[in-house]
Amino acid sequence: AAVVAGSTGALSEVIGDLQRAAGAMERLMDLLKAESEVSVPANPVALPSPAKGLVSFENVGFRYPARPDVPSLSGMTASVKPGERVAIVGPSGAGKSTIFQLLLRFYDPQDGRVTIDGVDLRDADPVAFRSLIGLVPQEPVIFSDNALENIRYGRPDASDEEVRAAAEAANAKGFIEALPDGFATHLGEKGVRLSGGQRQRIAIARAILRDPAILLLDEATSALDAESERAVQKALEAIMPGRTTLVIAHRLATVLKADRILVLEEGRLVAEGRHAELLETSPLYRHLADLQFADSAAAGLAISAE
Ligand code: ATP
Repeated sequence: AAVVAGSTGALSEVIGDLQRAAGAMERLMDLLKAESEVSVPANPVALPSPAKGLVSFENVGFRYPARPDVPSLSGMTASVKPGERVAIVGPSGAGKSTIFQLLLRFYDPQDGRVTIDGVDLRDADPVAFRSLIGLVPQEPVIFSDNALENIRYGRPDASDEEVRAAAEAANAKGFIEALPDGFATHLGEKGVRLSGGQRQRIAIARAILRDPAILLLDEATSALDAESERAVQKALEAIMPGRTTLVIAHRLATVLKADRILVLEEGRLVAEGRHAELLETSPLYRHLADLQFADSAAAGLAISAE
């Protein structure tokens, strides 16, 4: 029994470590590096400065080490131009999150290459290219710490003033200042619990602190309450201009505003284009639009009118 108790303790410790690390990408990577196969180049190729934010998948084939039998991406070729806004859609398991995992270089593809500003990620300094990326996960981790420090995780050397400015840009300042101790309010475990929309705005504030050339957004699948939804959308609209944005989309509003939509099915890119065009040309997209967009009920007329 002692052994079982011991290992459970160790496991929750590891999970705790991962959660603490998740806010700061580099630290998460330090943890993963210990176990992952991803190697850091001895003489990294410098990325262009200033960064352009050009993202490219060139004939990428990828299987997770834990599932070598099934390709999670096959023959994936897609580029996202600097400042372009691309939505990624597809059924569950199509490979949407895998695209983010490869862009953050949690794994290397077995075939083809993933590049940022023309540099193969395998040849770049991970700290350098990850500093170009801001990630807003679907379910952001809130640490057991105050609001100020929770946002500062995005860039640990940010000043209090920069943290507050990021909170404002993320449309989070209002709700934080309304908490019992404002920015000093303890959040997370044993602190104030935040709604899904508030957690996302904390994550957006963290991303803003990094001032990234590339934004990766994993939109919430579950509907947020209408007010939170508007607040999150407003925050995102404020930070997307001028940044290359890849968003795993579950909202009709998001695909409508995307410059381009990539449709994935079983690890393959099966269609791309704008919303209206894809409704005409891609039966899978039409199906997804009917089924998946969490806010499509309100706009049901627009879709079924096709
Ligand atoms: P969802 O909408 O459900 O999040 P997705 O489109 O993001 O799905 P991925 O998470 O990219 O899909 O998964 C693509 C494929 O890779 C699936 O078959 C999935 O089971 C598999 N997969 C994902 N993560 C891992 C992992 N860590 N280890 C092994 N297989 C994985």
